[in-house]
Amino acid sequence: MPGSVLVIGLDGACWRLFAPWARAGRLPALAALMERGTWGALASTVPALTLPAWSSFMTGKNPGGHGVYAFHRMAFDRYESAGLANAADVRAVRIWDVAAQAGRRVGVINVPPSYPLRPIPNGYLVSCMLTPPGERFTDPPEVAEDLGQYEIDLPPPKGLRRDQRDYRERALAYLAGMRRQTRLRGEATLRVMARRPTDATCVVFYAPDRVQHYFWEYIDPERPASDGTLDEEVRTALLGVYDELDAAVGRLVERAGPDANVVLLSDHGFGAKPQRSVRINRWLADQGLLKRHPFWTLRRSIVRKTFPEAWRARYDTLDHILVNRPRSRAWSEALFTGTAGIWVHERGRYPLGCVSPGEEYERVRTRIVDGLGALTDPAGNRVFRSVQRREDLYRGPYVASAPDVIAGCEPRFGIMFESLRRELRTPDLFGSYEELGYTGTHDPSGIYLLAGPAVAAPGEGAEYPIEAIPPTVLHLMDVPVPEDFDAAVMTEALRPEFLATHPVRSQPPVGDAAAEAAGWRSSEDEAHVAEHLRALGYFE
Ligand SMILES: [Zn+2]
Repeated sequence: MPGSVLVIGLDGACWRLFAPWARAGRLPALAALMERGTWGALASTVPALTLPAWSSFMTGKNPGGHGVYAFHRMAFDRYESAGLANAADVRAVRIWDVAAQAGRRVGVINVPPSYPLRPIPNGYLVSCMLTPPGERFTDPPEVAEDLGQYEIDLPPPKGLRRDQRDYRERALAYLAGMRRQTRLRGEATLRVMARRPTDATCVVFYAPDRVQHYFWEYIDPERPASDGTLDEEVRTALLGVYDELDAAVGRLVERAGPDANVVLLSDHGFGAKPQRSVRINRWLADQGLLKRHPFWTLRRSIVRKTFPEAWRARYDTLDHILVNRPRSRAWSEALFTGTAGIWVHERGRYPLGCVSPGEEYERVRTRIVDGLGALTDPAGNRVFRSVQRREDLYRGPYVASAPDVIAGCEPRFGIMFESLRRELRTPDLFGSYEELGYTGTHDPSGIYLLAGPAVAAPGEGAEYPIEAIPPTVLHLMDVPVPEDFDAAVMTEALRPEFLATHPVRSQPPVGDAAAEAAGWRSSEDEAHVAEHLRALGYFE
């Protein structure tokens, strides 16, 4: 049987930063892995977002196969939010379960979503940033002692802007915190690896994602910071986070030993934040597909000024004041900055649905796909890279819970959260894009790197979808791959000698272990985590 497998997840890592840094002698541990491994671009999920992407890594399936499309649950048959997603929403078998059934021992640290804990037989699990404060975050519980000092996530520096007086202080405090979290996570993982030997260990570091959101302008390769307005001390602290991360990677690889196969990956890439927001709900209203109540400001003032307090909560709502839902055929919501989901108000699915299934439904979708697909800004720039019907993008048992149309923006355009309310109140199709102090955001091109005795000659390999990683991890553990996984083992990246002695094996789909785990234990727990994610810009 082959040696162990070490999987290191670097949230938001991208080659546009890491490749030139590795070549320039920064990130020596990564450079050493690149020298002996195969590496390349890893296409993220749509949207290119942490929760769906790591869920695909965990299950071998696109979001239509596991049901997680964003940080929030899809409200495909109702008008109000369906709440915050968590590990119970991943409705597919995890590679950890498949490996455990084959008798392998697996340890998993901080791969989102992993709260509430869904125990791994014969293994251990440390949960992720969705863990409410005070809740147990390891299974078995005593793993918490092995971890020692350990931080799950840090409160983000919401609304950080360079023109603020306390900018440097807040920026440096956050960067020092991310550096400490990275060091502690590396050390904790080493301790658990020493005390609990496994056939595979997987750990995810959040640092690249977090610091790139706030400090992309310092490292943007397309727009090198030379205007003298950037803070050198902040830049040095920022680069220090990557030094710490690289050192952690180096120590983990060393501890795993020369017989281990190493899989490094990110859930999505990164790029500059959008320059303009596009208001899809405004466009839908202009097309007559989304209707606003007439005299909505009057309605609002009547509800707020003349209604008795006891009635107000009931009538001071989006639908009572602004959106004429019974007459609206479609509306849009942000899945994340670069991706919108457009819902068609289908009869039989929504309580007030007004679009007949079949021909009318398809007519509405075609108008949206064609209309948004052809949309340009006043300067003639194309706004959307792709506008697709959900079944053309996703496959699997949970496609029906996806938005009816998915629109992916060109990088210069973005979608704002809370868009229905904001966009129906303005006549303009385009606006500025200012949110949360971000200077960087996700892009679809993540990274993979395979190194170790089973891996083929070094160099740049083909691009793969993120769903190709899980069957490859299973195969490196000599576990047959379930036939219902979306992608095949990355055999081109493996040595022919290894494949000769370890031919790829498959097995029938492993039963859907979905969620004996309940959802959130309390609404307070959910609210607390929602607040954290809101501050990160991941949740409306
Ligand atoms: Zn991420």
